[in-house]
Amino acid sequence: MSKTVLITGASQGIGSAAAIVFADKGYNVVINYNNSETKAKMLQQSLAKTGCKCLAVGANVAYPGEVNNMVKQAEYAFGGIDVLVNNAGISSFNLIQDISDAEWNDMVSVNLTGVFNTTRAVIPQMIHKKEGAIINVSSIWGITGGAMETHYSAAKAGVIGFTKALAKEVGPSGIRVNCVAPGVIETNMNSNLTLEDMRRLTDDTPLGRLGSPFEVATTIYYLATEDASFITGQVISPNGGFVI
Ligand code: NAP
Repeated sequence: MSKTVLITGASQGIGSAAAIVFADKGYNVVINYNNSETKAKMLQQSLAKTGCKCLAVGANVAYPGEVNNMVKQAEYAFGGIDVLVNNAGISSFNLIQDISDAEWNDMVSVNLTGVFNTTRAVIPQMIHKKEGAIINVSSIWGITGGAMETHYSAAKAGVIGFTKALAKEVGPSGIRVNCVAPGVIETNMNSNLTLEDMRRLTDDTPLGRLGSPFEVATTIYYLATEDASFITGQVISPNGGFVI
C-alpha cells in the first residue's frame, strides 16, 4: 500500500518541489496551501495525471482549528499520514526597532507555531502505528542568524530546538524527526532581493550559485526514506557551502 505524505506550504517553491518528488516515488500526497489555492489545485491536477493520489487542502498553519481539520481530511482520504513535512513559511526584512508586534507574531505563528500545530495534530496516529518520519524546514539563518531577520532567525532556530527535543521524545515510538536548513534557494520567497543582493549571495557560496527547490526537496525525501533509518534529531543544510 502506498505511503502518504502531508506537506505544508506545498502550493509553490520548495514544498511544491517536494510534492513532485514524493509523488514520483509513489506516495499519496496531501498538498497544503494557504493563499495560493489555484496553484495548489493545478499541482494536484498535474500530479493526478501521473497516477498520484493527491489532495489539495487549504489551511493556515498558524490556526490549530484549520490544521486539525486538514489532518482529519487527510486521514479520512488516505487512512493515515506516514511522513509530515513542515515546510510552510514566510519571511521579511526589518530592523529590530521597526518590527511591529503584528510582524513578530506573524513570523513566529507561521514559522514556529505552525510546526507545532501540524505536528501535534499528526503525531497521535504515528505513535499508535509506532512509525513515522517528520521533516521540519528551518533555514541557515536559524543556525547563523541573519541581520534584519531577528524574527525569522529566532523562529527558524526554534524549529531546530523543536526538532531535537521531539526526536528524543518520540524516538522510542519509532518516529524519526529531522530538520533541513536550506541556504539561499531560488523561490518566490527571495523575489524581493535585488540583483546586487543575488550577486553577493552567489559570490559568498562556494558552489557559485543559488540552490534550486528540487535540491532541497530531494534532501527532504532522503530523510523520509529507509536510507535514513538511523538518522534522527539532525540538521542537514543544503546550502552550496554558504555555511560550513
Ligand atoms: P515560497 O515559495 O514563498 O513558498 C512558501 C509556501 O509556504 C507557500 O506554499 C505558502 O502557501 C506557504 N505558506 C505561507 N504561509 C502559510 C500559512 N500561514 N499556512 C500554510 N501555508 C503557508 O517559499 P519557499 O522558499 O518555498 O519556502 C519554503 C520553506 O523553506 C519556508 O519555511 C522557508 O522559510 C524555508 N526556506 C527558504 C529558503 C529560500 O531561500 N527560499 C531558505 C531557507 C529556508 P500559499 O502560497 O498558498 O500562501
